[in-house]
Order: sequence, then C-alpha cells, then structure tokens
Amino acid sequence: MTTHTRPVAIAGAPAPWARTARGANLLGDDGTLGITIFEEITALAQEHSAINLGQGFPDEDGPQEILDAARAAIAEGANQYAPGQGLAVLREAIAAHQERFYGLRVDPRTDVIVSTGATESIAAAILAFAGPGDEVLTFEPFYDSYGAVIGLAGATHTTAPLLAPDFQPDAAGLEAAFSDRTKIVVLNNPHNPTGSVFARPVLERIVQLAERHGAVIVTDEVYEHLTFGTRHLPIASLPGAADRTLTISSAGKTFSVTGWKVGWLSGPAELVAQVRTVKTFLTYTSGTPFQGAVALGLGLPGEFFTSIAATLRKKRDLLGEGLRAAGFDVFEAEGTFFTMVDAAPLGIGDATELARRLPSLIGVAAIPVSMFCHEEGAERTRSLLRFAFCKRFDVIEEGARRLGTLRERV
Ligand code: PMP
Ligand code: GLN
Repeated sequence: MTTHTRPVAIAGAPAPWARTARGANLLGDDGTLGITIFEEITALAQEHSAINLGQGFPDEDGPQEILDAARAAIAEGANQYAPGQGLAVLREAIAAHQERFYGLRVDPRTDVIVSTGATESIAAAILAFAGPGDEVLTFEPFYDSYGAVIGLAGATHTTAPLLAPDFQPDAAGLEAAFSDRTKIVVLNNPHNPTGSVFARPVLERIVQLAERHGAVIVTDEVYEHLTFGTRHLPIASLPGAADRTLTISSAGKTFSVTGWKVGWLSGPAELVAQVRTVKTFLTYTSGTPFQGAVALGLGLPGEFFTSIAATLRKKRDLLGEGLRAAGFDVFEAEGTFFTMVDAAPLGIGDATELARRLPSLIGVAAIPVSMFCHEEGAERTRSLLRFAFCKRFDVIEEGARRLGTLRERV
C-alpha cells in the first residue's frame, strides 16, 4: 500500500500559504513539506485497517444512471477538451437547477462556469479578487483550502468565529471582522466541519456588511442538498445579494462522486468572467465525460434529492447515538456529512493527539477540528473532533461499537 504520511524536505523559502493554514500542508520549522490533515488521517486509517470516519467521502456509489452516463460518454468519444467554460449541457442544467430549487435566474451562457471540483472555483474566485494588501474574511473553523489559497493570493486572512453550541456567526463579531480592506467574504453554508446551517438573519447581515464594505461574497454550498430539517437558503437569493455573490457547488457530495471533481460557480457575468480568466490558467477545462452525466444528475426528480438527505439524516442519528454512548458531547449537525464532538468529557484535552492515535488504538479515524483554525481558534477547539457519517449503516454501526471501547483505553 502506498501512503504519503512522511513529510518531504524541500529547499528554499517557504511558500506563502505554508504559514496560513494549520490543516493544509503546514510547512514544518525544519523546512519539510507536510500534507493535508485529510490525507494524513486517511493514510493512518489505511495503515491500521481502521474505519475511516475522517475524510468526507461516501463509501457507496451514487445513482446508477449517472455512472452509466459517464461510461457511455467515454464509449461515445467524449474524451477531448470540453470548452473552458464547461459543456453547454451542464451549464444549462446548472442554471435550471438554480431556478428550480431557489428561483435564481442565471444565464448559462455568461453566468456559469464548470470547474475541477468546487476546490478550483474557490481558488479561482479568491485569486481573481484578492491580492497583497487585501483582506479575505472567512468564518472559523474554515475549510482548509480557503486558508491555503488566501495565502497563495498573498492576501491577509481574517476570520469571524463560529462559537458553540450553535456555531452561528454572532452579529458583533461579524461586524468587527469586516474592514474597508475586506475584498471577499467567503462563507460555507451548510458548514464543514461544524454541521451548522446559517440562519436567514445571519445571511442578511453578511449581505449588508458586504455591501457596506464593497466586498464580493463567495459562497461554498457543496452541501446544499444535505440538510436535515431546514431547507437550504442560498445567500444569492436574498435581497441585494445577487449582484455581488458567486455561488459554488459540486457534484461530489450530492451524487456521491467525490472522485469526479466536477464543480461549478455561478453569479453575475462581470464577476464570473474574471473568475473564468483565472480558471483558464489553472486547468483550462475540466473532465469532459463527467459533465453530461452530472447534467443528468441535476435534472433528477425531487424525490432523489429528498431521499439522499433523509438517508443521511438517519446515518447522522445512528453515529450520534454511538458517539454519545462512547462518552462524547455531541453537537447535532443540521447539514453536511459531519458531526462534531467534544472529547473533554472523556478527559481528553488534545483532540489532535487523539486523532493521530485513534486508528491504532481502536480502529477508527476522525479529524481534529483545530486543523480548520488559526492559532487562537485552535486553542478554542482543542478538544473537538469531526466524524463523517457519509458511510454505510453497517460501517457506522461497527465504528460506533469500536468507539464504545475508547473509554477504557484512554
Ligand atoms: N468545500 C467544502 C466545504 C468541502 O467540504 C469540500 C470537500 N468535499 C470541498 C469544498 C471540495 O469539493 P470538491 O471535491 O468538489 O472540490
Ligand atoms: N471535503 C472532504 C472533507 O472535508 C475531503 C477534503 C479533502 O480531502 N481535501 O473531509
């Protein structure tokens, strides 16, 4: 088995992103290049044949018709470059999806681009609008790539904390985090890793503040169809938001195809054109045979979308029961693939240390939440762990059984 857990020594000055993200490729003091926390924990899980409740990927395939469509596209010769903007059939399906679910009208010719996962849309949007001297505001904990790309852009990363127990931004903290140098506010709703879904008044406040400071809103909504009880509300649909908002999503979570890396971004044509220019020089274009298949997926009946959320909710509940029985304090997720827990009731203060031991100790893997934070936020989240519940029911059951043995082993 190939694993890449060992850091690689590199010569020369540290890359700018190395100092900006704890969870993303931290460059060690000894000049070694690390890897992401997700890769590190997945490699440890493989090494110890552990149940991987760390990295967020489903362990079952998505809808058969989508998989068949990708195979057919390859067989039929859709194997050369797609247009840089993405295949028209997919851009049209994205526009139709935004209208069907949210009443948002976007022009598939000018307001949409297809990207290599949501990750590339995030990177291209940040690189398009922020540079040295600018601030990019994210909520904290934040998804690792935001910190890394803000560093690559040479911009300053500012944060507004999401605090227990509900992990909603608080109004005063949010206002204080904005400044006239804030070029972009990045939000992630539903939120990884806390599982929170931002309430409407919070979204309205973000729009007001972005307007006041002239900031672009970049919203990462990859978990848009994975909410439990609340309906997803895209920030772009709020009054005053549409002309400054870039909305990003991905096929990975909705259709259980994280390996396809098909994502997209939509918004006003002038902003989208600037992102597209950056995307052109990052990858130019993204996987042709997958695009038609994803278009098919976006057009599936409503029942598909409600049933994936309902199944995932049952998985959340099953894992939640196991985690509570194991002695953790559990923060119930309102959306995403993830449940966050506090290990403090088990007498564990350092969840990072625990996450590194967990695969060998009990054969389960999880991600420490402090890796989604800067130093101060890391201190605040030191005892928190994130568990993924996007796994088969029997896998979650076995994971819960193993977690039940933790108390006697720590
Ligand atoms: N944003 C968030 C919040 C995520 O959790 C992930 C991980 N899947 C991504 C972006 C990346 O999405 P993709 O794999 O489509 O690049
Ligand atoms: N989005 C997934 C997670 O949060 C995986 C991300 C990754 O491996 N970069 O776990």
